[in-house]
Amino acid sequence: MSQIYDLHCHSTASDGALSPQEVVQRAVNNNVDVLALTDHDDTSGLMEAAQIADSLGLEFINGIELSVSWSHQTVHIVGLHINPASAELQAGLIKLRQFRNWRGEEIARRLEKKGICGALDGARKFASGNILSRTHFAHFLIEQGYAKSMQKVFKHYLVKGKPGYVPGEWASLEEAMQWINSSGGMAIIAHPARYRLSATRLRQLMAEFRERGGAAIEVVSGSHSKDDIHNMAEMANRFELAASAGSDFHGPDNQYIDLGRLTPLPEKCTPVWQLDSWKEKVTRSQTTDQDREQ
Ligand code: AMP
Ligand code: MN
Ligand code: MN
Ligand code: MN
Repeated sequence: MSQIYDLHCHSTASDGALSPQEVVQRAVNNNVDVLALTDHDDTSGLMEAAQIADSLGLEFINGIELSVSWSHQTVHIVGLHINPASAELQAGLIKLRQFRNWRGEEIARRLEKKGICGALDGARKFASGNILSRTHFAHFLIEQGYAKSMQKVFKHYLVKGKPGYVPGEWASLEEAMQWINSSGGMAIIAHPARYRLSATRLRQLMAEFRERGGAAIEVVSGSHSKDDIHNMAEMANRFELAASAGSDFHGPDNQYIDLGRLTPLPEKCTPVWQLDSWKEKVTRSQTTDQDREQ
């Protein structure tokens, strides 16, 4: 039997609904063999997740999902096998969270102009970790009766052109990849079929990402259709990038698919976990664990 990999999901450390411990427990229940927790711009859930994974016999990988601005679009770059103790990575994450805090205040100001009061405190109530996400504003707006579903609340309030949307600059692709690579991690483009980029721009992104030492793209993602999977498999091969797979699970009621319920990678792809660099990182982390136990 082949192993089940789920290399992209969220906990309450960012905008997920379950605690890191609950995410790991659910992954085990769903027969996941290898799990990466990839919270947005924050690593504070990793320790708890790693400990419980260890006690349950699940192979766990330290991950992150970084917010990046590229060609006037937000693009997400997943880092796997990162070292959360890296000072350079943490300095970068602080900058991203500062932008999030400023943006949160600005979202609340803009909503107030539309007669929606108390959004900042209201959103913060839904945020139990260090980061403030549009998802938390979405929960507040639903609670207040402004919309019935996550899809609708984003569509009417939180996307470009709507009252609660605030443009701004996240990390550059160069910075994000430097933080991931310098912390010993591997960079992966998250859900590449989801961006509003023309085919030409998407290919430019792939080329630049490859040039900067990117390892893989998510070919299988909870938010990809069958066609997306097919197209992204071609894209990965064309740019000599490996393929990753992740559900992007955010919680039982707010999900594309459940943890581990991913279609297998197309045969023609090279799974990111079969790269030598992946295997070296697994060996390195096992050696570090043993050192710690001795
Ligand atoms: P942020 O990083 O704070 O701008 O928020 C982005 C997050 O909002 C994503 O990671 C998703 O979890 C969520 N999100 C974005 N668009 C939608 C949507 N249309 N429906 C539901 N959730 C969304
Ligand atoms: Mn999210
Ligand atoms: Mn994402
Ligand atoms: Mn995600």
